[in-house]
Formats: sequence, C-alpha cells, structure tokens
Amino acid sequence: MIETETIWNDSGYDCDHCGGQILERTDLETGQPAQVCLQCQGCGCQWQLDGEIIRIGNLTSCRRSQRVRSTEPAQTNINPFQLRLIVVASLLFLGAIVFFGGLTAIRFLVPIAIAVFVFWRLYQLGKERMWW
Ligand SMILES: [Zn+2]
Ligand SMILES: [Zn+2]
Repeated sequence: MIETETIWNDSGYDCDHCGGQILERTDLETGQPAQVCLQCQGCGCQWQLDGEIIRIGNLTSCRRSQRVRSTEPAQTNINPFQLRLIVVASLLFLGAIVFFGGLTAIRFLVPIAIAVFVFWRLYQLGKERMWW
C-alpha cells in the first residue's frame, strides 16, 4: 500500500512574480525518497531547491520571468561559436594576406590586430559595465 503525504513549510521567501508567500513543499511517498520543492501560494509556480523552474504559473509575470531565464543560456552559447567564427575568419584573412602580399604585409597587420584587440576588449568591458 502506497501512501502519499504532502508537508508544507514556510520557506521565508516572497514570490517576485505575485508577491505571494513561497512554501517549501515536501512530498512523501512510501518507498520513495522525499521530493522537496518550492511552490508559490499566489501564482502556483514551482521551483526546485536550486532555483530551476518546474511549473510556471498563469500570471504574465511568471511567463515573462521564465522567458528571461530561458534566453540567458542561449546567449552564452552563442559567444564561443562567434569567437570560433572570428578566429577562423581572421586566420583565413591572414592566410590570404600572406599569400598575396608576402610577409611584409604582416608587419602592417600586427599594429592593426593590436588596435582591434584593444577596441574589442574595451567594447566587452563597456558591455559588462552597461555603458551601452
Ligand atoms: Zn507567485
Ligand atoms: Zn509565478
């Protein structure tokens, strides 16, 4: 015979979707390890203890916050790909310069490369500090 029991505890957090109380929900089932998650009393959102969302509530703010979360990893995934693209493109460019212009061309390219690198770092720094 399997029995289930749900225990509710106050987690001490307030929901940033609806301002409701967030409860710690413990589901006990015979023969199973206890399942603990967080659930909002107001909008019904459920989270794992590490903040990963399990169930999205019906409020607009619930869905909006979920959308913000889901776009975050996508953005960080693009960056290494873009970086690789830039590296490959610049290697091809460099190869073409050497092929057509000879080694003397590289001497002009080095200061340009340094300048580009400095500007790129400045751009990244500015983005981190929300200058643009
Ligand atoms: Zn809520
Ligand atoms: Zn919610």
